[in-house]
Amino acid sequence: MTQRRLFVTTALPYANGKFHIGHIMEYIQADIWVRFQKMRGHEVHFVCADDAHGAPIMIAAEKAGQTPQQFVAGIAAGRKPYLDGFHIDFDNWHSTDGPENHELAGQIYQDLKRAGLIETRTIEQFFDPDKAMFLPDRFIKGQCPKCGAKDQYGDNCESCGAVYAPTELKQPYSALSGATPVLKSSEHFFFKLSDPRCIDFLKQWTTSGAVQPEVLNKITEWIAPGDDGKPKMGDWDISRDAPYFGIEIPDAPGKYFYVWLDAPIGYLASLKNLFAKTGRNYEAFMADPAVEQVHFIGKDIITFHTLFWPAMLHFSGRKVPSAVHVHGFLTVNNGEKMSKSRGTGLDPLKYLGLGMNPEWLRYYLAAKLNAKNEDVDFNADDFLLRVNADLVGKFVNIVSRSAGFITKRFGGQLTQDFDPAGAALLQTLAAASEPIAGLYDQREYGKATREIMALADQVNAYVDQNKPWELAKDATHNERLHQVCSVLINAFAVLSRYLAPVLPTLAREVEKLTGLTLASWHDAGPVRAIAPYQHLMQRVTPEQLEALFEAPTPEQPSQAAEKLDSDPNLPPGGEAIAPTITIDDFAKIDLRIARIVQCEAVEGSTKLLRLTLDVGEGRMRNVFSGIASMYKPADLQGKLTVMVANLAPRKMKFGLSEGMVLAASHADEKAQPGIYVLEPWPGAQPGMRIH
Ligand SMILES: [Zn+2]
Repeated sequence: MTQRRLFVTTALPYANGKFHIGHIMEYIQADIWVRFQKMRGHEVHFVCADDAHGAPIMIAAEKAGQTPQQFVAGIAAGRKPYLDGFHIDFDNWHSTDGPENHELAGQIYQDLKRAGLIETRTIEQFFDPDKAMFLPDRFIKGQCPKCGAKDQYGDNCESCGAVYAPTELKQPYSALSGATPVLKSSEHFFFKLSDPRCIDFLKQWTTSGAVQPEVLNKITEWIAPGDDGKPKMGDWDISRDAPYFGIEIPDAPGKYFYVWLDAPIGYLASLKNLFAKTGRNYEAFMADPAVEQVHFIGKDIITFHTLFWPAMLHFSGRKVPSAVHVHGFLTVNNGEKMSKSRGTGLDPLKYLGLGMNPEWLRYYLAAKLNAKNEDVDFNADDFLLRVNADLVGKFVNIVSRSAGFITKRFGGQLTQDFDPAGAALLQTLAAASEPIAGLYDQREYGKATREIMALADQVNAYVDQNKPWELAKDATHNERLHQVCSVLINAFAVLSRYLAPVLPTLAREVEKLTGLTLASWHDAGPVRAIAPYQHLMQRVTPEQLEALFEAPTPEQPSQAAEKLDSDPNLPPGGEAIAPTITIDDFAKIDLRIARIVQCEAVEGSTKLLRLTLDVGEGRMRNVFSGIASMYKPADLQGKLTVMVANLAPRKMKFGLSEGMVLAASHADEKAQPGIYVLEPWPGAQPGMRIH
């Protein structure tokens, strides 16, 4: 077998927060593959890095009162417990802000420029005059141009789902300063992905077997010509204006690479950094056509890795990825626990903190993963079953039922004289080596673990046929007992080797027990003697799983309210008093007493009630109010309330709203839910103004 030379990466995590379980799944998926390839004797370099640049990190650092470098270093310092905890063994962890990345990004850009694939265009963008910076889409808010919902982001409306350009927002404001942004033009740099050379290259690369069939279908759509004859995927804006935390573009002061340009270059930078540390030649390695470059990524970043990244590499004269392996998302308990109010569902550090075995999770994920871009669900009941029934019940039990006899009865020595059935069983196990290896190589871990558990079933059938605990009762069966237990220990060692990419720590324990080396995929030879057996793996308990999914702090409204009210440092009602206004400012707001003539539920909305209001004008007003969680229509009908009578009418999904009813609520609706409609004292009449 020829030795493969592999350069393997996972996606670079954005350095603005802790790892979540989705990161851990990707790392485990890649780590299993890497461990397997290393066991096969291949040369593997497995690297990752923090993705350090971009506006969100710059802004988060400013909020935290730190430089972006300090902020990113703080995040990076928190990575180790996760990686060590789940036995994820990267050969190097670097940062995209490292010197190698600055250098490589500049070189690749210059190469692309020479290839004629960089051009500049002047574009108009929102600019925050207070912060003196161009605003990323997520930092522009305003009223949805479609439904009028307030406080929507610059790219889409969370209320009606409309997608639009930030310039279409009504009454836009900067989420950073509150200032009204102005349109300002700026010169931007573009990578010409729509160039026919790029399209031709991508057609060839994507059909070369580098991507999964389901991913290829998507890419084919993106690069297919649209109505105008040009590919649907347009050119790529790769520059951002200062202030920006990133890599300055060569010969373009004040212009920086968009974070997504230099993030994948971080793969190369991390490898280069590793090679510098270990005294290897990075250039020679990357120049070897036999070297395979393999990326593991999630389905949310396919475009960056299958369009921009291979094209950037190819047209800068570099090695292109041999494979981009895309996985789906991890949902937890069918997604029900992934809601924001319940946190991230499965907190990896909490899992470890509860003393849960990291190899349970590695095994469970392996059992669920395949080579397709499909979502994986973590289901607590399924997890309990697979760990306890399969991993412990079928696999670990093989050794726990036989090792004690070998130690007590035979001084830890195994016999090499197996019974025919036992010898045949061990041959069956050995014959499965290459099929299982093929499944690991194809990332079909689910099939591999099923195959291994099917072998464990055969071993357990042999146990049931020979019943060592029965043999042990009668001294005349001593030799038989010795044979059976020796077969079982050998069988267990083989299965441990097959599971070693998934269960590396258990494999090390089995090495200590058996004296074998399980670091290689090759047959490790027969076990001759064992050390005294110690428990290799506990069962998971329902209590552990319950604790794992317990909400962090029960957010009972009354408790939250108590907490908020008793803390004098918190602003009243959850928000600070607004800046002072003059009486003239107040006079602009025309508040009137209104009678709720009619009140009804709104079909298709759980939040809104439709109110018909009489403000003494000789006509009725139609007003929608988001109070359906608190009031039934009958509660309000006939009552008096207060409304803003001169608010500009708002077109909503359900009709025109001609004003606003006043209601009180806490700023943090989650911590302290409830919205209370105002009602005047007796004597007030519809139409009276509030002064
Ligand atoms: Zn909307």
